[in-house]
Amino acid sequence: MKNLLILVLLNLVFLGGSFAQRRDNDGELKRLSKEAEKNRVRTPPGWYHEAIPHSRFRGFLSKFNLEITTGLNTALYSHKVVGYGIYSGSLGTRIFFPTSNDPVYDPVSGNIGESLSQWFNTTLTTDAFTSAEPDFVVIPDSDLKFRNKSPGIPINAALYFKIYRFRLGGGYTFEPQFLTSGFRPSSYKSDIETWKPGVSVLFVKKYYGMLGGEFYRYQDFLFSADLRVGGWGPGKRIQYSSKSWMFNLGTGVEWQKSEYFRPYLRAGFEYKNFIIPSPIGAEFKHNANEITVNFGVILQMPSMPKCFIKNCHIQMNHQHGDREYRSRVHPVWKKQNPNYGENYPRLLKYKRKNKGKLNPY
Ligand SMILES: [Zn+2]
Repeated sequence: MKNLLILVLLNLVFLGGSFAQRRDNDGELKRLSKEAEKNRVRTPPGWYHEAIPHSRFRGFLSKFNLEITTGLNTALYSHKVVGYGIYSGSLGTRIFFPTSNDPVYDPVSGNIGESLSQWFNTTLTTDAFTSAEPDFVVIPDSDLKFRNKSPGIPINAALYFKIYRFRLGGGYTFEPQFLTSGFRPSSYKSDIETWKPGVSVLFVKKYYGMLGGEFYRYQDFLFSADLRVGGWGPGKRIQYSSKSWMFNLGTGVEWQKSEYFRPYLRAGFEYKNFIIPSPIGAEFKHNANEITVNFGVILQMPSMPKCFIKNCHIQMNHQHGDREYRSRVHPVWKKQNPNYGENYPRLLKYKRKNKGKLNPY
């Protein structure tokens, strides 16, 4: 019994000792690994030594993305005529203010005082006249809207900086719009004729800041959304008294053909308006919203130049001396670091010119 007790005690002493030993070993290992980390020699990538960047300026420029697009926009012009009466007949479509004192509408004689024949780009007052059958005259008991859909061809350039998934930048759009179809009323549709505004072509300019982000990727397709906020101008032909800011919220998809060349499609909704003052009644707030559909490319400057050795066939970014270069065999719109077979995915024997050959190689 006594022997057993001694044995147990001895065992405990031995175990304790080994624990202590292990703790010491752990400490030593930690210390050694820290030391090794400190003294570690960084293995340079490439064959010789680490590549020196080409220039800071080039590296900085390569972080910018240039978006160049055109497209087909639809301008959704609309406005309310608040409190006006409407005449539609042989003199075209006119609006008059029935409650003011002097220019007044007399339903018995058909006399209409001062009226407006234009109220889109400016106001054009016409003299008093007498309406007669079969002219249509109405004083709507609720606000009446005139609407117009016009195509516009945008020419757009934007420059943005990419930070992680976010995009920060700005741009400019020049957009001729063709107001050829005229305005249609929201009620009395069969009685009121299409009203033609005083301008048929507008040259709209927009300048904006943009903030966006990437939110989804499917294979080579990258989806993003952005908000473009800025100023705009409808051109000299529109004599507005004030105008709103421009807001364009849209989503886009880019096809990442290569690091530097990405075909791009963006669809957005744009909010903006302007005010035309009236000499005889309530002012006109013209909504100039747009559905924008743009397509084009996003370009990025390569951070390194093309390899300078004429017969170099390396297909990846590679090093000569202390500098790294782009492959010569890839134009900017082809992927710069293709995996095996990506460059020529179709087997030679399936190519048309090799169809009849026994040995296509
Ligand atoms: Zn090379």
